[in-house]
Amino acid sequence: MALRFYNTLTQRVEPFTPLHDNVVRMYTCGPTVYNYVHIGNLRSFTAQDILRRWLQARGYQMDHVMNITDVEDKIIRNASAEHKSLTEYTEKYTQGFLEDTAALRLQRPERLVKATEHITEMVQAIQDLERGGYTYESEGSIYYRISKFPEYGKLSHNDFSGIRAGARVDVDEYDKANARDFVLWKARKDGEPFWDSAIGPGRPGWHIECSVMAMKYLGETLDIHAGGVDLVFPHHENEIAQSEAITSKPFARFWLHSEFLNIDAQKMSKSAGNFYTLRDLREMGYAPEPIRYLLASVPYRKKLNFTFDGLKAAATAIDRLRNFKLRIETDRFAEGANEALIERTESAAKQFGDSLDDDLNTAEALAALFEYVRDANTAMDSGEFRAGNIPAALELLDQFDRIFDVLRPSATDDAMSDAQVEGLVAERAQAKKNRDFARGDQIRKQLLDAGIILEDTKEGARWKRK
Ligand code: AMP
Ligand code: ZN
Repeated sequence: MALRFYNTLTQRVEPFTPLHDNVVRMYTCGPTVYNYVHIGNLRSFTAQDILRRWLQARGYQMDHVMNITDVEDKIIRNASAEHKSLTEYTEKYTQGFLEDTAALRLQRPERLVKATEHITEMVQAIQDLERGGYTYESEGSIYYRISKFPEYGKLSHNDFSGIRAGARVDVDEYDKANARDFVLWKARKDGEPFWDSAIGPGRPGWHIECSVMAMKYLGETLDIHAGGVDLVFPHHENEIAQSEAITSKPFARFWLHSEFLNIDAQKMSKSAGNFYTLRDLREMGYAPEPIRYLLASVPYRKKLNFTFDGLKAAATAIDRLRNFKLRIETDRFAEGANEALIERTESAAKQFGDSLDDDLNTAEALAALFEYVRDANTAMDSGEFRAGNIPAALELLDQFDRIFDVLRPSATDDAMSDAQVEGLVAERAQAKKNRDFARGDQIRKQLLDAGIILEDTKEGARWKRK
């Protein structure tokens, strides 16, 4: 079966191919840079990274745009409390976001675009909506009249036909029970940053930025629009209302929404205070790879409950795979190839791919890999794994790692280089030959302190990073 995704718009799993050529035009809602992101936010971004990587594995090229929301109520409030300009304030957290996503090995979108650099285009879009009769003004602010867009509610599958016309909201985030005409342009307020424009002095609402930046870079109809489930309403519903009112074309063909990262059965969020940032976890001694693995291992449409046991299990899973790889690379195997095992490897690779084709079922993809690793380890123990089985086994691990990207340990600041490690390992071998066991033990301890684990085998010592 071909690659397919669950589409929030149609509520069905549908086969996916891009509209034009081989290029997937994708837009994802990026962070609001008022603080460091937490690992709940990072779950959504990790899901999008897995999506990107799998699309590429299936031969597509990406044209992925992500916005940085750098003007917004919380940002304005925090910047003013710290007596900083918007740019000064948001720059720190934009950099923080780039560092965190790089540490988690999230591929950079082809374009990262800032809201404050697209004010002119937003003003033009609001003028387009004005000309179409979709807006009205009140006290210098401009609102979108949702009763003018009969399809309002088609993404969140809500019937809003009975709502009171003319009721408005100025805040960007609200729930379904409070569906109202939403703000496109907020009138200038004392002490707040504003832009002078043909539609009056003010600043844009949150929703218009995504419609404008998505269409500017990707055209009127996107292949994929993605984000967390909390964005379905009102944010994405409003994006559709704005974009489709302007173009009369479908705004996005596929809408993919990822579920929450929970903690103690509650959504992890800044406002509830029940969050960890990546920085918090790294200070506690957790490497980025188990965090990435944990976030990616549960299929994106299922809730994931964060626990430290889960994080430790992720680290153990990675260790198993690294040990397996080390074993393939360092054990001595008899000549020839075990045909049955080659077939076993091929079927694992196929199952891995089929699972990801199936709306990115990462849990099943991992299960296929681990069953194979178990069988291959057993074959190694009994001498049935042959030298000729090595290439297919390594290729399977590579196929896994092109998506999950956890086998290479992250460098730490005080890490020893490979050459230093090799030097000490050689010195230890010599010390043991000279029966200087005290020195040998000292080196083993020194390596262990640096996060290097030694294993003595018939072929000599082999080592790996923790
Ligand atoms: P924000 O910076 O709040 O706009 O959020 C950025 C992204 O993180 C959005 O796609 C949200 O849907 C997502 N997000 C926020 N909290 C969580 C959570 N606990 N689990 C998963 N995704 C989340
Ligand atoms: Zn958005």
